[in-house]
Amino acid sequence: MTVTRFAPSPNGPLHLGHAFSAIVAHDLARKRGGRFLLRIEDIDGVRSRAELADEFRADLVWLGLEWEEVPAQSTRLAAYTAAAQRLRGEGLLYPCRCTRAEVAAAATRMGPDGPVYPGKCRGAAFASGEAVAWRLDVRAALERTGSLTWFDERAGQQPARPERFGDVVLVRKEAETPASYHLAVTVDDAADGVTLVTRGRDLFSATHVHRLLQALLDLPVPTWHHHALLLD
Ligand code: GLU
Repeated sequence: MTVTRFAPSPNGPLHLGHAFSAIVAHDLARKRGGRFLLRIEDIDGVRSRAELADEFRADLVWLGLEWEEVPAQSTRLAAYTAAAQRLRGEGLLYPCRCTRAEVAAAATRMGPDGPVYPGKCRGAAFASGEAVAWRLDVRAALERTGSLTWFDERAGQQPARPERFGDVVLVRKEAETPASYHLAVTVDDAADGVTLVTRGRDLFSATHVHRLLQALLDLPVPTWHHHALLLD
């Protein structure tokens, strides 16, 4: 059975792009006799606002959509920590103290998501108790999984190219946002039984990383539907 989802972050009011995304996911589920889930992605403890999540629900009612709501990300932190612990235990994560500005200054290439981390902290020494982020050693991870592919309903079969992002952060330094988007969304889509990840084309590249995480964490592999974006 097709299970799709709409997974907005309540960091600002629902905009037209969100509404379009929700309708696309909803209609795909309905056409296929499947389920349509709503997941509030309130992992960012600083920017997320509970009242905005309530406004999202009211807006979706106004749009005439019906959904099943699954637990919000803020209630699932233990699952993200468990996934990160597993990867750490397998030697696939390393600590990093670099700030965004330091990464930007040291980077020698740009990836889909901005400057690519040049690996400065790989092998560095850390004092216990120092606040660190944990990065995925993408090269070691790919050696483990071998080459991977994923399938987008609109764009077809894709070779997974997570190395374009470099060593992404999976566990953030800030205690109030413990998991990165990549880790949280991958763990959640599997936990929610999502078979068709529906979202905007702006997140197309992120799927390369998610496919790698699924392979490392032995999670089921969904199909993706990256819809066009509303521009202008
Ligand atoms: N929470 C993300 C956002 O609002 C979307 C995540 C996803 O669909 O994978 O942009």
